[in-house]
Amino acid sequence: MVTERATLYIVATPIGNLADITQRAAAVLAGVDAIACEDTRHSQRLLDHLQIKKPLRAYHEHSDGSADNKLVESLAAGQSIALISDAGTPLIADPGYRLVAAARAAGIKVVAIPGPCAAVAALSIAGLPSDQFRFCGFLPARASARNKALEQLADDRATLIFYEAPHRIVESLAAMVAAWGGQRRAAIGRELTKTFETLLDGSLTELAERVAADRDQQRGEMVVIVAGDSAEQSSTVEQRRVLSVLLRELPLKRAAAVAAELLGGDKRSFYQLGLALQGRDS
Ligand code: SAM
Repeated sequence: MVTERATLYIVATPIGNLADITQRAAAVLAGVDAIACEDTRHSQRLLDHLQIKKPLRAYHEHSDGSADNKLVESLAAGQSIALISDAGTPLIADPGYRLVAAARAAGIKVVAIPGPCAAVAALSIAGLPSDQFRFCGFLPARASARNKALEQLADDRATLIFYEAPHRIVESLAAMVAAWGGQRRAAIGRELTKTFETLLDGSLTELAERVAADRDQQRGEMVVIVAGDSAEQSSTVEQRRVLSVLLRELPLKRAAAVAAELLGGDKRSFYQLGLALQGRDS
């Protein structure tokens, strides 16, 4: 018996490629009494694929806790329930926190069935430091709130991970360049595990320009990963030293081009760094 009575299972499901469902996730979904999900029609497609027939219960995180209370009542009465979200790991930029808190407070056993998560998948292939990272979820939609959030993250040493909507990606990348300068290393993982999966990497300036110029890069689901403050500084110690020397003798544009030729990298990033060194960061 894979599932136990009176237990809440938090089950990760694929972020695009249905073959990413784990054996244990499939067994738990087949074994529970009911499955709580965000969108019953969406989740029914996954269950059809797995050939599992189970009652689906729509679950939305209401601030009054009514949905949580109903599920906790069912759990307390002995039912086993799985929580899934539309994709990936529940609670990661998805509902579930209140339910888990309520279930634990009621003494219900809560079991994780780990699996896909877009943030972790993107981090694992971005080539940016992964020893410390901060999951920042979605940035606020309003420019003033978004800029404030970016400012608050400016000194964070950890690698920063964002989820972003396709219609906001151009604006958000431009806001990151404005907030932190364009020289930080960054990566965008788009449509991960799906047919048109891409991973772009480069400086923030390069990515902002590339995405703005290519409508295809403004479609689909995406994760943006940006090097943290200290990682960036340590990677530019040599760049800063060389560029500072060159700036004593040459105009900024020429110094940036020579530094890029000497050290490798792109002229635009050195230009941004030069602006910062001259105290005129964009
Ligand atoms: N719980 C999910 C997880 O574990 O990743 C995230 C849910 S959140 C509502 C949806 C966001 O996750 C998307 O807007 C996108 O930023 C990111 N995402 C989900 N699937 C993705 C994929 N296949 N490739 C890139 N990003 C993805």
